[in-house]
This record gives sequence, structure tokens and C-alpha cells, in this order.
Amino acid sequence: MKNIAVLTSGGDAPGMNACVRAVVKTCLSKGLTPFGVMDGYQGMIEGRIEKLGYGDVDNIIQRGGTVLGTARSQEFLTAEGRQKAIVHLKEQAIDGLIIVGGDGSFKGATILAEEMEIAIIGIPGTIDNDIAGTDHTIGYDTALNTVVEAVDKIRDTASSHHRVFFIEVMGRNAGFIALNAALASGAEGVLIPEEVTDIPLLVKQIKEQNKGKRSSIIIVAEGDDGGGAKEIMEQVRPFMDGYDLRYSILGHVQRGGNPSAFDRILATRMGGMAVDLLMKGETNLMIGSNGDRLISQTILEGINHSATLDLEKLDLLKDLLTKG
Ligand code: ATP
Repeated sequence: MKNIAVLTSGGDAPGMNACVRAVVKTCLSKGLTPFGVMDGYQGMIEGRIEKLGYGDVDNIIQRGGTVLGTARSQEFLTAEGRQKAIVHLKEQAIDGLIIVGGDGSFKGATILAEEMEIAIIGIPGTIDNDIAGTDHTIGYDTALNTVVEAVDKIRDTASSHHRVFFIEVMGRNAGFIALNAALASGAEGVLIPEEVTDIPLLVKQIKEQNKGKRSSIIIVAEGDDGGGAKEIMEQVRPFMDGYDLRYSILGHVQRGGNPSAFDRILATRMGGMAVDLLMKGETNLMIGSNGDRLISQTILEGINHSATLDLEKLDLLKDLLTKG
């Protein structure tokens, strides 16, 4: 193992830079040559693979986004596109590849590794936390804190005006951000893809919760079966005469910002471990966290399974919302 390339792929997530930095610095400290692939698999296809040095990762640990850039590449889905990528990887004699991204990015890497001789290690980087085999993905903790901060701010205005707010947060397939943000912000309700939304029940709960309060906050995961925050608000409106209903979609603000200390540390540890695994001759593995420990499992485990939300937290939230 001599030349290791790192790429960030799929949606950007705060902490990706800390991870890239750790990969580069660990490589350099162990006598390996690190390379960065710009803009994910698209940059690989276009031959944008650059040698990285200390100066390239200086002053990036605290920055959100990814200095390497990221992309969703349609061309990489084709064998022809991947062949172009393989030519460029061979030109630079890359023998190890570290992919920081979601399960789609991992899948792309496994297909690449079937078509050329290259060792691959996946690092889970996505704000959604929806990858199996890890307690936390890089970026999730930061995004969750961003959401909680935003909900706190909306609470201030909701309370001032006696409003019921539906706040839409990210989570196409999973309710990690929504449920945990609801617990952390003291929300009066949460709608997540893992539970079927029952509008009459929701109306009853909002009315019950709203008694004696100046505001209600309902967190809605964007992938909820009942629709987004606006759709949910429109569905309850006919049954909520006299209530001042509003909605807010937090959107891309959830992706950006400086990574939390938690994400920086997780990303740094995972980046260092990925290089160590490659040096030991390992391949087709994905790194994960289990409590405070880092673990590795086959990358296929991460691709073929979905992360499961701890529904005990939902039960707890419901207990907290039940008025005795
Ligand atoms: P996020 O969770 O943020 O969406 P992701 O890694 O799951 O991240 P995807 O858009 O699914 O994001 O995948 C990123 C890229 O990986 C795709 O644009 C594509 O280039 C590559 N990729 C995904 N699936 C495959 C596949 N089956 N074959 C080859 N390449 C793939």
C-alpha cells in the first residue's frame, strides 16, 4: 500500500473536512502518499485526482462542507463511466480508496473494486444518520444541533404569538433528526417515516397539548408518509378553527456550519482508522461507531441493511406528551 486516495461523495456533511484532514495527515505520518479526488466519482471520471500535502488540509478541521467537493455522478453508474475512472486511478497508481459518504457511495465503491484491483474502506458521512452498522454518521450531531437551535428560535416567536408551528427537518427515509430534535427541543409532537401519520389523532394531540400553553411545535421529517410540514398543516387546518397555524421548512441550513466537537472527533478517528485498515491489507470494510468504540464490518452490511431508529425514544416522547 503506497498511494491512498480519499473522496467525499453524496450529500455533504459537516465533519467531512476533519476526516479528509485525518486521512491525509495519517498517510503522511506513515510514509504513504495521499491523494484527493475532487467532486466525488465525477472528478474521478474526469481525472481530477491530486496529491495532497499538509498545506492542503491546514485550517479545515473546523469548516463545514467539503474542500474536496462532492457530487452525484450519473456517469459513474455506467460501466463506461467507471472505466474512465479506472484509467485515472491507474495513472496515479492508487492502490487504496477511502470513501466518505452514504450507502450509495459505498455501493459505487464496491462495484469499482470488482472491476479493478483496489482496496476500499467506507466511512459513513451523512447528516441523516441512516447507515446501518454505526451509531453515528459524520455530520449528524452537527445537523441535529443546528435543528435544535432553529427550533428554539422558532419557539420564541411561536410563544409570543400563540402559534402552532409545523417545522420540517431533513430525513427522507429515517426520522433520526426529527425524533431526536423533538426530544431535545421539548416539541409537542413528531411525525417520522417510521410511524404512519394519523391526522385525526394528530389534531386531538395538538389540541390536548396546546391547553394552557402559548405555543406548540410539531417536528415533521421531510419523508413522513403524511407529507411535509406544509401538507400536514393544510390537512389539520379544517379541524383547527381558532388556532394560528404556521409552517417552516429548515432546508439546507441543516447541512452547513462548523462541525460540532463530537463530529470532528468522530471524523478524525474514522479517518485515521481507515488508513490503518488499508495498511493492514484490509478491504471492503466500513467503519462504524459502537458507543465510544470504533468498529469495522463488511461494507455490504452497511449497503444491504437500513439503520433502525430507537423507537423507545418515541415511546418516551409520547409519555412526556401524555397529560395525567
Ligand atoms: P447521501 O446519503 O448523502 O444521499 P449517498 O452516498 O447515499 O449519500 P447517492 O447519491 O446515493 O448518495 O450516491 C452517491 C454517488 O455514488 C452516486 O451519484 C453515484 O455516482 C454513486 N453510486 C450510487 N449507487 C451506485 C451504483 N449502484 N453503482 C455505481 N455507482 C453508484
